[in-house]
Order: sequence, then C-alpha cells, then structure tokens
Amino acid sequence: MRLLCLFAAGVLVATSASVPQALGIPTATLKDAELGERFLLQVSYEQGSIGFNTSRSRVVTFERDGAVLHMLDASNTRGGDSAGILATIPIRTETHGTLGVDLNEGFDTIDREEDRTGEDYYGRIDRHDARSFRLFERKPVSISYHESTLVFDQEARTKDGQPIVVHYYLSSYHPRPDFRPFEMENLRRFGFYETYPQWRYGRWVLYAMKFDPHKPIVFALSSAIPERYRSAVRDGVLYWNQALGTSALRVIDAPPVVRAPSPDYNVIQWVTSGAFASTSYVQSDPLTGEILHAHVFILPETMADGDLQQQNDHLRYIAAHEVGHALGLRHNFAPGEASTVMSYFKLPQILQIGRNIRAGAPALPYDTAIVQHVYLGAPLDIDMLPPFCTDSQRGCVPFRSMKESDGIRGGASADAKGSEN
Ligand SMILES: [Zn+2]
Repeated sequence: MRLLCLFAAGVLVATSASVPQALGIPTATLKDAELGERFLLQVSYEQGSIGFNTSRSRVVTFERDGAVLHMLDASNTRGGDSAGILATIPIRTETHGTLGVDLNEGFDTIDREEDRTGEDYYGRIDRHDARSFRLFERKPVSISYHESTLVFDQEARTKDGQPIVVHYYLSSYHPRPDFRPFEMENLRRFGFYETYPQWRYGRWVLYAMKFDPHKPIVFALSSAIPERYRSAVRDGVLYWNQALGTSALRVIDAPPVVRAPSPDYNVIQWVTSGAFASTSYVQSDPLTGEILHAHVFILPETMADGDLQQQNDHLRYIAAHEVGHALGLRHNFAPGEASTVMSYFKLPQILQIGRNIRAGAPALPYDTAIVQHVYLGAPLDIDMLPPFCTDSQRGCVPFRSMKESDGIRGGASADAKGSEN
C-alpha cells in the first residue's frame, strides 16, 4: 500500500541479475548516467542495549573515482562549501552503463547526529558536528526495493563488540513541489523539531519538521498491540484530527510481518522488552522538513496500573503524546492548567485527558493552535496561546518529576524507563 514515498522512479534498483556474493544478497545498482543526480539517504539503527535511533538524513550525489563511487553530501547547508565525502563505495560490476556497487563495504560509519534536532541543543548554525562511530564485522542482511526506495539492512558490531542492525533508505531526491516548509524563527512560543540549519537567502534558516498535510497521514498499528488496547491507540492518533480540524490522520492495521522501523508504514510498535521508554522518532527531508517516516514505540508497562478502562485512558494520552512527537511537536512543560498532551502529568490528570479523548472532546488549546498554524497556515493568536517551554530551556521542568526526558536523547537510556517520552 502506498503510504509514504512519493519519489519518482529511482535509478537505484535491487537486482538479482548480478549476485557476486555467496550470501545471495542482491547487488545494488546505479546507472552511470545518473551519478550526478540527487538522492536522499536516511539511516536508522537498533542496538540491544540502547534501542532505536535515527541518524541525520542527507541529500547526496555520487561521483566516480576509478573503481569506487564517492558519496558526497549535497545538502548544501553551508553555502559555497565543497561537498564532503560521506562514503566510498566499491564498484563490483559494470555492464551496459550500470554499476553494481557494494553498499555493505562502503557504509562503514554511522553519523551520531540524530535526524530530528532543535535549536536549543544544536544551535541555529550548522556546526557539521563530525561525531560518528565505525561499524565492524559488517554483513549485508537484505537489499529490497520499496516503490522507488532502495532498502539496505546491515548487521555489524560496534567497537566494543555490541551487535547493531542498521537500516538505510536510499531514493531519488524529489521534494514535493507543493510542500510548504514552515520556518521556525525561535522556540519562545511553541516548539517543533527542526531541520539542521541551512544557509538560505544570506542567513541561517531552520524549518519545522511536519508531514505534508495535503495527503493522508497514516499510522499503522502493529499486530503486536493486543486487541483490548487497539481502539485506545487509535483514539490517541485521531486526537490530532480534533486538533487539526481535518481528517488528515488515519489509522490502519499493519500487516503482521511489519514492525518499526518500516520504510513503508508509520508503525506504532508495542515494545515488550521494557528496555526503553515509550518514544517516537521521525525522519524528514533534510532540506524542507517534510516528515517521511515516523516510528512510534509504546511501552505498555507504563500504563499497567488500574482496571482495563483506566489502562486504556492512560494509553490514549500516551498515544496522543507520542503521535504528537511523530507530527513534529516538542514537549511543552509550561506550568498551569493542562493545555497540551505534550507535557507530563500525574496520573489523575492523565486519566482525565484520556477520558476526554475517549469522549471525542475538543483537543487542548495549545495543540489546536500550533498544529493549525504550522500545518495549515492558520493565524496564531499570540495573546490566546497558552504558555510554552521545552526541554533544555532554563527552568523548564515537567510537572511530574522526571529523571530524564526525550527532548534530546529519545529515551534511549534505560533511566528513562517508565516515562512517556
Ligand atoms: Zn515526550
């Protein structure tokens, strides 16, 4: 089912026509004539001890140098600078203008910069933070083709021997011409995750991360979510239709084999390991901020107290909060009456929010105002907008005592267990 990718036909294809490896993993191929074209590379990875994370998305091009391809950063975030080499990929075969390339050999380093970021912890100038880590004992797991996106899965080990699974999505880069980026001028009144800063119009520009509201925003419930909880998760997703005043958000059941991260679906995954908290990750177009993939993880232990109805009301709040992150929203920990699901609350207030969502009550005022402003271009009445503050801003702490929040690290620490990141 077509959900996410609207890229035109890519030139990278997985083909079994040339299979040099004994493993039987097909070779990724690239047409010689398309080397200078722009591609979008998105990377995520899973580590047993840390959980899931994303890496900064890049617009890239390829340049041939003898028997290798250099993958160059074409994001052009710092006007005028020459593009850096992100990877050197061996060419294994060459027939009729088509190059068979060894992605497993070439993709040997993970950029630690997460895809979503915020000016409060990254800044409004691109630092090209070069933090990365190497992948050892790399093995290709699969190469597959999802519409026009090439998906390469790789197993490896980190320097200290920890197993890691890395997911690469590579596609021709064709940003939607009708997508309207939303420029974030500051984080004083409301907060969205932001693109890394780009040098545009003689200044640094940051865009909000958001879905394209011109098409359905579809979340897929993992088959691992028990039947008795599914309608509550659905309610939590559809809360945002109340906020938007549209029916842009839709919920479907993911096919049984699909789990997060998925290149095809925005999966809401049931996390049973308990290794990390409920959390959300987005991967966006690094130039426009359009969210192209969302991966939501819900830890059911968080709402284990109470009877089934209370658990489900708790879950409605958790799902609404995590889908809020998946729509690009940052936390809002400003004190006062509940004006948003993007804060933390004590249990009675959580249950009240859940009951309201169950009853189909109007969305909370902060949520309504800012999603309509950022997604739909509705004017923002600053005088009526509830107060705002977010992670890492001075003096901004959640109502509920928290050891750690996901504003920066996505609940990747076990310390965050029990929180609704
Ligand atoms: Zn959160």
